[in-house]
Amino acid sequence: MARRESKQRRRERLSIIVDRLERTYPDAKVGLDFTTPFELLVATILSAQCTDERVNTVTPALFAKYKGPSDYVAVSQEELEHDIHSTGFYRNKAKNIRACCEMLLAQFDGSVPTTLDELVTLPGVGRKTANCVLSNCFDVPGITVDTHVTRIMNLLGMVETSDAVKIEFELMELIDRGRWNAMNHLVITHGRQTCIARRPQCGRCAIADLCPSAS
Ligand code: SF4
Repeated sequence: MARRESKQRRRERLSIIVDRLERTYPDAKVGLDFTTPFELLVATILSAQCTDERVNTVTPALFAKYKGPSDYVAVSQEELEHDIHSTGFYRNKAKNIRACCEMLLAQFDGSVPTTLDELVTLPGVGRKTANCVLSNCFDVPGITVDTHVTRIMNLLGMVETSDAVKIEFELMELIDRGRWNAMNHLVITHGRQTCIARRPQCGRCAIADLCPSAS
């Protein structure tokens, strides 16, 4: 079995990869539309098993109707299900959003908390959602491990696991804290535009010479 590349070598390679992706996708940013931390929290819960584009078609009307946590708990479960229906898994999502809003009102004065430990206590909020909100709304460095980050970091040989929490902690050691947030957007953009699931476009990939999976 081939010996694993050292952590130091992976660090050096990942730094060059992120440099390259920065030049390739200068406008990379979060794909969900939002104007407040609360809106991003709701949009991120809706984005489970759903594309950002689809969520963005639902949220303009949703955010116009529901301004804050009290609006979501004031309607019936069925009404909220109807309003988010097209994002899929709407029963579970409606249940989580309402439970999350109840906890925001009961324990956080209706505001979105600003620490990971507090955010992950909210129903429907895991480390991915918490890191997404922290990094995009509060400028707190965090690595958001979604399906693109999982796939691409394995293809790049940076990690050898599909466990999101393990990937998050391993990546924290492979890239400087100040670059975590930028790396999220860059890798996710790369996953959408070039290293597409099941049909990676290696022939036009800007990091092909740095990728052990290039074909
Ligand atoms: S070379 Fe291919 S597999 Fe590697 S990152 Fe680029 S598109 Fe993905």
